[in-house]
Amino acid sequence: MNSSPVPESGRAPLVQLSGVSKSYGGVMAVSGVDLEIARGEFVAIMGPSGCGKTTTLRMLAGLENPSSGSIRLNGEEVRDLAPWQRDTPMVWQSLALFPFLSVIENVEFGLRMRKVGRAERRRRATDWLARLGLADFAQRRVDELSGGQRQRVALARSLVTEPPLLLLDEPLSALDHHLSLKMQGELTRLQRELGIAFVYVTHSHSEAFAMADRVVIMANGEVAQCGAPMEVFHRPASRFVAEFLGGNNIFQADVVARDGSRLELRTPEGRFTAEAGAQGGAALAAGAAIDLVVRADRISLTAKPGWATNEVACTLVGEEFIGSTVNGHLETSGGKQIVVQLNAKDLEEIELDVGRQFYASWHPEDCHLVQRPHAAH
Ligand code: ADP
Ligand code: MG
Repeated sequence: MNSSPVPESGRAPLVQLSGVSKSYGGVMAVSGVDLEIARGEFVAIMGPSGCGKTTTLRMLAGLENPSSGSIRLNGEEVRDLAPWQRDTPMVWQSLALFPFLSVIENVEFGLRMRKVGRAERRRRATDWLARLGLADFAQRRVDELSGGQRQRVALARSLVTEPPLLLLDEPLSALDHHLSLKMQGELTRLQRELGIAFVYVTHSHSEAFAMADRVVIMANGEVAQCGAPMEVFHRPASRFVAEFLGGNNIFQADVVARDGSRLELRTPEGRFTAEAGAQGGAALAAGAAIDLVVRADRISLTAKPGWATNEVACTLVGEEFIGSTVNGHLETSGGKQIVVQLNAKDLEEIELDVGRQFYASWHPEDCHLVQRPHAAH
């Protein structure tokens, strides 16, 4: 049920941001963002602190006006509509519940603002409380609830108006790890069941990659990359994204020769061979300045030199336990740091003694190449 006055056009995407920018005085919080969101889609937005995630959500919610660009909902421009006129509620990390109202009054609030009659309000709020497992808590004050329960009240309050889109700004970051995982599951299930779109800001990669149909990575107010989680994971579009995702080794490289899909690369750590595969194109011709990205789990570590095409001698400087795998941190003689993810089987074969020399190697097929930005920082 969509209470917005805008008819469903069927063709236009649910949300369409075109060239959306927001500046505060001289600060560009968001800069030229283009983004489309389909009905029922789960989009996660990630990026370093201050990159414009919250500002983007606030503009979608109508809490902030863009300085330029357009925001369409169901094909209709909404940039001048107030929050209650556009049906895009937002759930914050702080939840922003009213402490002086009971649980059910909190949930009814949005309906009251929309002048829904008292009996109807009660009925709908009661429904949503039951749906979120809060039926017995209707008369409690919100400060008498646990963190997870409050989270559900905030959700019920946003969902009671049955919006086509829910905006969530780091909603789980205040919860402990176990509760956060549990709520992650509940949110995903709820989103699929309701079939409404979620735009979900998180600083947690695991949250974003587990929950979303599509992830958007922002940097300095701009969209750095947008795509399916596995696409972004395997094919980061830039050095920035590769670094942001973590677990990547990045070598500054020049293409010295190209033979079909094979590229000869020159790096400060030596010459490597990359299989360009689907990444062909003029940008990767001889002479191109690129960044070579090799994931930590794609690198093998041996105590003796092998005959691998891509091999670097390096010294173990430390190790880090990540559950069932260990990250080996190594350094080349030139001071380049290399991280290698080792599983239980790898660890049976080598002794991780700090100070010992190893050989890190990888296949040409595991080389991912990205263009180097012109203004490197
Ligand atoms: P994120 O949510 O990604 O951490 P924000 O969207 O909150 O980032 O902020 C983006 C940039 O805009 C930051 O540099 C921040 O300081 C600035 N900013 C956000 N809101 C305001 C505001 N109301 N007034 C001035 N600057 C702001
Ligand atoms: Mg924020």
